[in-house]
Amino acid sequence: MSLHPTTATVIDLFAMHGSSEYGGENVTQEEHALQCAELAAADGAPATLVAAALLHDIGHLLHDLPADAPERGIDDLHEALGGRWLESRFVPAVTEPVRLHVAAKRYLCATEPAYEAALSEPSRVSLGLQGGPFTPDEVAEFEMNPFWRDALRLRRWDDTGKVDGLETRLVTEFADVLDACVLPEAE
Ligand code: FE
Repeated sequence: MSLHPTTATVIDLFAMHGSSEYGGENVTQEEHALQCAELAAADGAPATLVAAALLHDIGHLLHDLPADAPERGIDDLHEALGGRWLESRFVPAVTEPVRLHVAAKRYLCATEPAYEAALSEPSRVSLGLQGGPFTPDEVAEFEMNPFWRDALRLRRWDDTGKVDGLETRLVTEFADVLDACVLPEAE
């Protein structure tokens, strides 16, 4: 099987940095990404959204901040970092939900009272750093993005994909999904 170089780079990033802790949760970055991708696939999501689920926290694999940055009051802005990295490599249906996945949390906190109450403690800590629940104006603006519903779906998998010891496929087994979503001009 010949992989697109971008897919090979993603596999390398997980191999090099995927074993780092997923900010205060009981899973590694790689386990979390794979659980999210499996949830997306099980939910019948298109390949672009399965890829987005796998890649949504790639920003965490691209910076050198400690995993406990939020507890130290630092927002690593991983959704923006990841979004920028993905933008030149993957189609917008992958990149946009990733870029919006933190905004999606702020949206859901504003629109579903039960959502914020159900967040994990690390998610609640980072919410404060990320600006808290959206204002009504921000809610309306979020709904203008063509990918806002995809971002909400991604967000729910993100919130669920934190189960200690769950069996998933390997990152390499999602190579065909990634290949299908790479921009033709990506290197
Ligand atoms: Fe996540």
